[in-house]
Amino acid sequence: MIVLKTRREIELMREAGRISARALQLAGEAVQPGITTAEIDKIAYDFIISQGAKPSFLNYNGFPATACISINNEVIHGIPDDKHIIKEGDIVSIDLGAVINGFHGDNAATFACGKISPAATRLCDTTREALYIGLSKAVAGNRLGDIGSAIFEHCASRGYGIVRDYTGHGIGSKLHEDPSVPNYGKPGKGARLLPGMTIAIEPMINEGTEETKVLRNNWTVVTADGKLSAHFEHTVAITDGECIILTQC
Ligand code: MG
Repeated sequence: MIVLKTRREIELMREAGRISARALQLAGEAVQPGITTAEIDKIAYDFIISQGAKPSFLNYNGFPATACISINNEVIHGIPDDKHIIKEGDIVSIDLGAVINGFHGDNAATFACGKISPAATRLCDTTREALYIGLSKAVAGNRLGDIGSAIFEHCASRGYGIVRDYTGHGIGSKLHEDPSVPNYGKPGKGARLLPGMTIAIEPMINEGTEETKVLRNNWTVVTADGKLSAHFEHTVAITDGECIILTQC
């Protein structure tokens, strides 16, 4: 069931989004050679707590950290720890959310550690572009397939694999609500977008195959072929005009 939000509720979600966005920004600024993913996670945790919010992911289905931090061939759900040390040339996907006043924000971005390869730059640029192309289709009256197909086409035209095993989602008083927001689809198909819908749009794009597998820790999702993956996400509210990006500092 898709839960529509009132104007007042969307204002509350802006606060969750602001905290989520700033936490992501701070975590991204910390990406540098020699830092561990646990240290990055702590930066995000400390900021979220300092704002009177709580990390949305911490203990969600047993997830043990504030942020999912996924390096290079890791797609999503990487678990921060003090053995994962970031090095020059890595691409580091950070996904995190915060809950305050009963509402969640959720956002992600892939950050470069120092100088990265032209191939990695191209993948990250394309994935970020795909997110914004998806956002441009997130307008009342359009359908979910308009978002997914636009994201898919942008990335497929560059030869990338568009992850199908995981999708964006509705978001609000729960971190994950209906509907699923896939990064594929047919224009004009799928659920109709209505004012007051709040959704997280999150292309996960692979350099090679779209296929993924889950590591033995039962969390970390990696590309099946070991090639790179990038991930960008915003939480947005649907209106009759341009969507409102809620995950903004
Ligand atoms: Mg999400």
